[in-house]
Amino acid sequence: MNIAGLVSLSDLPRTCPLLCRNNHPEYGEARTRVVEVRGVRFGDGRPVVIGGPCAVESCDQTLNVARAVQRAGADMLRGGAYKPRTSPHDFQGLGLEGLAILSAAREETGLPVVTEAMDPRLVEQVAEFADMIQIGSRNMQNYPLLAEVGRAGKPVLLKRGMSASLVEWLGAAEYIAKQGNLDIVLCERGIKAFAAGEYSRYVLDLNVVPAVRAYTFLPVIVDPSHATGVAALVEPASRAALEFGSQGLIIEVADPTAARPRCDAAQAIDPDTLARIVQFAHRHIGTALERVA
Ligand code: PEP
Ligand code: MN
Repeated sequence: MNIAGLVSLSDLPRTCPLLCRNNHPEYGEARTRVVEVRGVRFGDGRPVVIGGPCAVESCDQTLNVARAVQRAGADMLRGGAYKPRTSPHDFQGLGLEGLAILSAAREETGLPVVTEAMDPRLVEQVAEFADMIQIGSRNMQNYPLLAEVGRAGKPVLLKRGMSASLVEWLGAAEYIAKQGNLDIVLCERGIKAFAAGEYSRYVLDLNVVPAVRAYTFLPVIVDPSHATGVAALVEPASRAALEFGSQGLIIEVADPTAARPRCDAAQAIDPDTLARIVQFAHRHIGTALERVA
């Protein structure tokens, strides 16, 4: 797909030599580097769907949601043990205990686990339990943290900073790559634009998805949960993301029979909705952009 002229990123070969598509003719104009997480392959044609709670709150809650995510046919489990909360008085996650719960959920369901690391001092600990380490939006430009996850020997899910340009986002990925780790999946999760917070939580920037694919060979996925903040919008946003070329989705799910989640309850979808999204995603071969190209 040729979208030259939409964005000017002419400095990329200098600022991101390791990840810039132009510097790597082996990937041609469209090929993606496949990032493998315990047998789950990002960028290999079939979109990857990750589901799970916003936060690990208890063993029962996590196992119930993990089972539902597995029954829905999703590929991976998400869940935060360390949570970046706006208020320090809000639930901060279960920490090490949460990581152990995620391990138990992986053991039972077989689903690989992605979870967030926030503190460079705890990256090693998170890497012991996680199959993939998530860098959250608020930490996208925490350069010591990026270098540390670059050395941790695990694939990384790098969320876009909520106010980050594409150049800044790819620059953050380059910090990880510079440590020798090219197993990076990028994730658009909604940005702060003038309308953010008025009728949805953030502004879902789907235009960035084809741009990412044009400028780097790394896979890119979309988080429709944080981007919209509204459960009813998650399914349409997921479909739209795939049409824009997203190579996967990361979605927050709640067990509707259990207590209301302590974090991000308004955006959590039920397992039946996740199952519909998984069906749509796994059948989705090629994007609308590619079909008209
Ligand atoms: C999350 O995925 O749990 C999360 C906190 O997301 P973000 O960093 O995109 O806000
Ligand atoms: Mn959340």
